[in-house]
Amino acid sequence: MPHDIPESHPRRISLLTRDKLISGFDNKLVATAGLIAHGRGEAFDYLLGEVTTKPAQESIEAAAALLLSAENAVVSVNGNVAALTPKQVVTLAGLTSAAVEVNLFYRSLKREHAIREVLMAAGAEQVLGVGKAASASIPNLESERGKVDPRGIEKADVVLVALEDGDRTEHLVKLGKKVIAIDLNPFSRTAQYAQISIVDNLVRAMPALIKKAQEFLVKKFSQQDLEKKVKAYNNKKTLGKSIALINQRLTDLARKGVFL
Ligand code: ATP
Repeated sequence: MPHDIPESHPRRISLLTRDKLISGFDNKLVATAGLIAHGRGEAFDYLLGEVTTKPAQESIEAAAALLLSAENAVVSVNGNVAALTPKQVVTLAGLTSAAVEVNLFYRSLKREHAIREVLMAAGAEQVLGVGKAASASIPNLESERGKVDPRGIEKADVVLVALEDGDRTEHLVKLGKKVIAIDLNPFSRTAQYAQISIVDNLVRAMPALIKKAQEFLVKKFSQQDLEKKVKAYNNKKTLGKSIALINQRLTDLARKGVFL
Protein backbone atom coordinates (compact mmCIF):
# COMPACT_ATOMS: atom_id res chain seq x y z
CA MET A 1 0.00 0.00 0.00
CA PRO A 2 1.67 3.29 -1.05
CA HIS A 3 2.22 5.58 1.89
CA ASP A 4 1.74 9.33 2.00
CA ILE A 5 4.93 11.09 1.07
CA PRO A 6 4.85 14.85 1.70
CA GLU A 7 5.40 17.01 -1.39
CA SER A 8 8.30 18.62 0.40
CA HIS A 9 10.16 15.39 1.15
CA PRO A 10 13.63 15.67 -0.44
CA ARG A 11 13.57 12.04 -1.55
CA ARG A 12 9.97 12.05 -2.74
CA ILE A 13 10.57 10.75 -6.28
CA SER A 14 12.80 7.97 -5.07
CA LEU A 15 10.25 6.93 -2.45
CA LEU A 16 7.36 7.05 -4.91
CA THR A 17 9.37 4.92 -7.31
CA ARG A 18 9.92 2.37 -4.53
CA ASP A 19 6.19 2.34 -3.83
CA LYS A 20 5.46 1.58 -7.47
CA LEU A 21 7.87 -1.33 -7.39
CA ILE A 22 6.45 -2.69 -4.16
CA SER A 23 2.92 -2.49 -5.61
CA GLY A 24 4.28 -4.21 -8.72
CA PHE A 25 5.74 -6.92 -6.53
CA ASP A 26 2.41 -7.36 -4.68
CA ASN A 27 0.62 -7.56 -8.06
CA LYS A 28 3.03 -10.27 -9.28
CA LEU A 29 4.61 -8.05 -11.93
CA VAL A 30 7.98 -7.67 -10.30
CA ALA A 31 10.22 -10.60 -9.34
CA THR A 32 11.92 -10.73 -5.94
CA ALA A 33 15.24 -10.25 -7.71
CA GLY A 34 13.76 -7.16 -9.37
CA LEU A 35 13.58 -5.48 -5.98
CA ILE A 36 17.22 -6.26 -5.34
CA ALA A 37 18.18 -5.00 -8.80
CA HIS A 38 16.37 -1.74 -8.07
CA GLY A 39 18.33 -1.31 -4.86
CA ARG A 40 21.57 -1.66 -6.79
CA GLY A 41 20.34 0.91 -9.26
CA GLU A 42 19.44 3.35 -6.48
CA ALA A 43 22.98 3.20 -5.15
CA PHE A 44 24.40 4.22 -8.53
CA ASP A 45 21.73 6.89 -8.92
CA TYR A 46 22.92 8.41 -5.66
CA LEU A 47 26.45 8.51 -6.99
CA LEU A 48 25.26 10.20 -10.18
CA GLY A 49 23.34 12.86 -8.23
CA GLU A 50 19.92 11.49 -9.28
CA VAL A 51 19.85 13.54 -12.47
CA THR A 52 20.10 12.82 -16.18
CA THR A 53 23.74 13.64 -16.72
CA LYS A 54 25.26 15.12 -19.87
CA PRO A 55 26.74 11.79 -21.00
CA ALA A 56 23.36 10.11 -20.41
CA GLN A 57 21.75 12.80 -22.56
CA GLU A 58 24.27 12.01 -25.34
CA SER A 59 23.31 8.33 -25.17
CA ILE A 60 19.61 9.21 -25.17
CA GLU A 61 20.06 11.25 -28.34
CA ALA A 62 21.88 8.41 -30.12
CA ALA A 63 19.32 5.89 -28.86
CA ALA A 64 16.38 7.94 -30.15
CA ALA A 65 18.09 8.19 -33.55
CA LEU A 66 18.82 4.45 -33.62
CA LEU A 67 15.25 3.52 -32.69
CA LEU A 68 13.82 5.82 -35.37
CA SER A 69 16.18 4.52 -38.03
CA ALA A 70 15.69 0.82 -37.20
CA GLU A 71 13.81 -1.56 -39.45
CA ASN A 72 12.49 -3.78 -36.69
CA ALA A 73 12.95 -2.23 -33.28
CA VAL A 74 11.70 -3.90 -30.12
CA VAL A 75 11.18 -2.46 -26.67
CA SER A 76 11.83 -5.33 -24.27
CA VAL A 77 9.77 -5.20 -21.08
CA ASN A 78 10.44 -6.95 -17.78
CA GLY A 79 8.64 -6.66 -14.46
CA ASN A 80 10.43 -3.53 -13.24
CA VAL A 81 9.87 -1.73 -16.54
CA ALA A 82 6.17 -2.65 -16.50
CA ALA A 83 5.82 -1.44 -12.92
CA LEU A 84 7.67 1.85 -13.42
CA THR A 85 7.09 3.08 -16.98
CA PRO A 86 4.27 1.21 -18.78
CA LYS A 87 2.81 4.32 -20.44
CA GLN A 88 6.21 5.52 -21.58
CA VAL A 89 6.94 2.11 -23.14
CA VAL A 90 3.77 2.33 -25.19
CA THR A 91 4.38 5.96 -26.19
CA LEU A 92 7.99 5.34 -27.20
CA ALA A 93 7.08 2.20 -29.16
CA GLY A 94 4.31 4.12 -30.94
CA LEU A 95 6.60 6.99 -31.88
CA THR A 96 9.37 4.76 -33.17
CA SER A 97 7.19 2.02 -34.72
CA ALA A 98 8.75 -0.51 -32.37
CA ALA A 99 7.18 -3.74 -31.16
CA VAL A 100 6.72 -4.36 -27.44
CA GLU A 101 7.86 -7.72 -26.10
CA VAL A 102 7.70 -9.24 -22.65
CA ASN A 103 11.15 -10.64 -21.98
CA LEU A 104 11.88 -12.04 -18.56
CA PHE A 105 14.93 -13.46 -16.90
CA TYR A 106 12.69 -15.38 -14.51
CA ARG A 107 9.89 -16.45 -16.82
CA SER A 108 6.51 -17.35 -15.40
CA LEU A 109 3.27 -17.41 -17.33
CA LYS A 110 1.54 -15.56 -14.50
CA ARG A 111 4.04 -12.71 -14.62
CA GLU A 112 3.97 -12.60 -18.44
CA HIS A 113 0.17 -12.21 -18.36
CA ALA A 114 0.33 -9.61 -15.58
CA ILE A 115 2.83 -7.56 -17.60
CA ARG A 116 0.76 -7.86 -20.77
CA GLU A 117 -2.31 -6.64 -18.89
CA VAL A 118 -0.50 -3.59 -17.55
CA LEU A 119 0.83 -2.75 -21.03
CA MET A 120 -2.60 -3.20 -22.63
CA ALA A 121 -4.12 -0.96 -19.96
CA ALA A 122 -1.44 1.58 -20.86
CA GLY A 123 -2.61 1.50 -24.48
CA ALA A 124 -0.49 -1.20 -26.15
CA GLU A 125 -2.19 -2.79 -29.14
CA GLN A 126 -0.02 -5.88 -29.25
CA VAL A 127 2.32 -7.39 -26.71
CA LEU A 128 4.72 -10.03 -27.99
CA GLY A 129 6.57 -12.73 -26.09
CA VAL A 130 3.76 -14.05 -23.90
CA GLY A 131 3.49 -17.82 -23.31
CA LYS A 132 3.81 -19.96 -26.42
CA ALA A 133 4.44 -16.85 -28.53
CA ALA A 134 8.00 -16.87 -27.20
CA SER A 135 8.72 -19.91 -29.35
CA ALA A 136 12.17 -18.95 -30.63
CA SER A 137 15.36 -19.04 -28.63
CA ILE A 138 18.61 -17.14 -28.40
CA PRO A 139 21.32 -19.71 -29.21
CA ASN A 140 23.49 -20.89 -26.30
CA LEU A 141 21.24 -19.50 -23.59
CA GLU A 142 19.47 -22.25 -21.67
CA SER A 143 15.76 -22.56 -22.33
CA GLU A 144 13.91 -20.12 -20.07
CA ARG A 145 16.38 -17.23 -20.28
CA GLY A 146 16.72 -17.59 -24.03
CA LYS A 147 13.05 -17.56 -25.05
CA VAL A 148 12.05 -14.82 -27.48
CA ASP A 149 9.23 -14.10 -29.90
CA PRO A 150 10.04 -14.79 -33.57
CA ARG A 151 7.98 -11.70 -34.53
CA GLY A 152 9.92 -9.56 -32.06
CA ILE A 153 13.39 -9.91 -30.62
CA GLU A 154 14.35 -12.81 -32.89
CA LYS A 155 13.99 -10.76 -36.05
CA ALA A 156 14.80 -7.37 -34.51
CA ASP A 157 17.73 -5.26 -35.64
CA VAL A 158 17.51 -2.96 -32.58
CA VAL A 159 16.46 -3.96 -29.06
CA LEU A 160 15.95 -1.58 -26.15
CA VAL A 161 16.46 -3.30 -22.81
CA ALA A 162 16.44 -1.98 -19.27
CA LEU A 163 17.78 -3.64 -16.11
CA GLU A 164 18.97 -6.47 -18.32
CA ASP A 165 21.25 -9.35 -17.49
CA GLY A 166 24.74 -8.99 -18.94
CA ASP A 167 24.87 -12.50 -20.30
CA ARG A 168 21.72 -12.04 -22.33
CA THR A 169 22.94 -8.68 -23.60
CA GLU A 170 26.17 -10.29 -24.74
CA HIS A 171 24.24 -12.96 -26.64
CA LEU A 172 21.95 -10.42 -28.30
CA VAL A 173 24.98 -8.48 -29.48
CA LYS A 174 26.59 -11.70 -30.74
CA LEU A 175 23.46 -12.31 -32.81
CA GLY A 176 24.11 -9.02 -34.57
CA LYS A 177 21.47 -6.98 -32.78
CA LYS A 178 22.12 -3.38 -31.84
CA VAL A 179 21.34 -3.16 -28.14
CA ILE A 180 20.33 0.01 -26.32
CA ALA A 181 20.54 -0.51 -22.56
CA ILE A 182 19.13 1.66 -19.80
CA ASP A 183 21.28 0.82 -16.81
CA LEU A 184 22.37 3.01 -13.90
CA ASN A 185 25.50 0.96 -13.40
CA PRO A 186 28.17 1.92 -15.96
CA PHE A 187 30.27 -1.07 -14.80
CA SER A 188 27.57 -3.69 -15.40
CA ARG A 189 28.19 -6.25 -18.09
CA THR A 190 25.07 -5.00 -19.82
CA ALA A 191 26.35 -1.42 -19.98
CA GLN A 192 29.71 -2.70 -21.21
CA TYR A 193 28.28 -4.94 -23.97
CA ALA A 194 25.49 -2.73 -25.30
CA GLN A 195 26.19 -0.46 -28.27
CA ILE A 196 24.36 2.41 -26.59
CA SER A 197 24.30 2.43 -22.78
CA ILE A 198 22.08 5.03 -21.18
CA VAL A 199 23.46 5.42 -17.65
CA ASP A 200 20.33 6.88 -16.14
CA ASN A 201 17.30 5.93 -14.14
CA LEU A 202 14.59 4.34 -16.23
CA VAL A 203 12.05 6.78 -14.80
CA ARG A 204 14.02 9.73 -16.20
CA ALA A 205 15.46 8.07 -19.30
CA MET A 206 12.16 6.94 -20.82
CA PRO A 207 10.53 10.40 -20.82
CA ALA A 208 13.80 11.86 -22.15
CA LEU A 209 13.89 9.29 -24.95
CA ILE A 210 10.31 10.13 -25.87
CA LYS A 211 11.12 13.83 -25.93
CA LYS A 212 14.13 13.30 -28.20
CA ALA A 213 12.25 11.00 -30.58
CA GLN A 214 9.45 13.61 -30.80
CA GLU A 215 12.01 16.33 -31.50
CA PHE A 216 13.60 14.33 -34.34
CA LEU A 217 10.17 13.62 -35.81
CA VAL A 218 9.07 17.25 -35.62
CA LYS A 219 12.34 18.31 -37.25
CA LYS A 220 11.70 15.69 -39.94
CA PHE A 221 15.13 14.10 -39.63
CA SER A 222 15.89 11.91 -42.63
CA GLN A 223 17.18 8.34 -42.38
CA GLN A 224 20.57 9.76 -43.30
CA ASP A 225 20.43 12.38 -40.51
CA LEU A 226 19.51 9.70 -38.00
CA GLU A 227 22.25 7.34 -39.14
CA LYS A 228 24.76 10.18 -38.94
CA LYS A 229 23.81 10.78 -35.30
CA VAL A 230 24.23 7.11 -34.47
CA LYS A 231 27.58 6.95 -36.25
CA ALA A 232 28.91 9.97 -34.39
CA TYR A 233 28.20 8.30 -31.06
CA ASN A 234 30.94 6.41 -29.22
CA ASN A 235 29.71 4.23 -26.36
CA LYS A 236 33.12 3.59 -24.81
CA LYS A 237 33.82 7.31 -24.65
CA THR A 238 30.42 8.14 -23.24
CA LEU A 239 30.62 5.37 -20.62
CA GLY A 240 34.01 6.75 -19.69
CA LYS A 241 32.45 10.18 -19.21
CA SER A 242 29.83 8.73 -16.84
CA ILE A 243 32.54 7.02 -14.81
CA ALA A 244 34.64 10.20 -14.77
CA LEU A 245 31.62 12.13 -13.57
CA ILE A 246 31.09 9.76 -10.64
CA ASN A 247 34.79 10.02 -9.87
CA GLN A 248 34.71 13.81 -9.96
CA ARG A 249 31.61 13.98 -7.76
CA LEU A 250 33.15 11.67 -5.20
CA THR A 251 36.41 13.63 -5.23
CA ASP A 252 34.51 16.89 -4.65
CA LEU A 253 32.37 15.38 -1.91
CA ALA A 254 35.38 13.79 -0.25
CA ARG A 255 37.08 17.18 -0.16
CA LYS A 256 34.05 18.84 1.44
CA GLY A 257 33.30 15.99 3.86
CA VAL A 258 29.66 17.01 4.22
CA PHE A 259 27.30 18.03 1.46
CA LEU A 260 23.89 18.62 3.07
P1 ATP B 1 25.11 -7.36 -15.31
O1 ATP B 1 24.62 -8.77 -15.41
O2 ATP B 1 24.70 -6.54 -16.49
O3 ATP B 1 26.56 -7.22 -15.00
P2 ATP B 1 23.69 -7.07 -12.82
O4 ATP B 1 24.14 -8.39 -12.35
O5 ATP B 1 23.73 -5.92 -11.86
O6 ATP B 1 24.41 -6.59 -14.11
P3 ATP B 1 20.89 -7.24 -12.87
O7 ATP B 1 20.84 -7.25 -11.39
O8 ATP B 1 20.16 -8.27 -13.63
O9 ATP B 1 22.30 -7.23 -13.45
O10 ATP B 1 20.40 -5.84 -13.47
C1 ATP B 1 20.05 -4.78 -12.78
C2 ATP B 1 20.76 -3.58 -13.35
O11 ATP B 1 19.83 -2.56 -13.55
C3 ATP B 1 21.79 -3.07 -12.37
O12 ATP B 1 22.97 -2.75 -13.05
C4 ATP B 1 21.16 -1.81 -11.78
O13 ATP B 1 22.12 -0.82 -11.54
C5 ATP B 1 20.24 -1.38 -12.90
N1 ATP B 1 19.01 -0.69 -12.43
C6 ATP B 1 18.23 -0.98 -11.38
N2 ATP B 1 17.20 -0.14 -11.27
C7 ATP B 1 17.29 0.71 -12.31
C8 ATP B 1 16.51 1.80 -12.79
N3 ATP B 1 15.39 2.20 -12.15
N4 ATP B 1 16.92 2.44 -13.88
C9 ATP B 1 18.04 2.06 -14.55
N5 ATP B 1 18.82 1.03 -14.16
C10 ATP B 1 18.45 0.36 -13.06
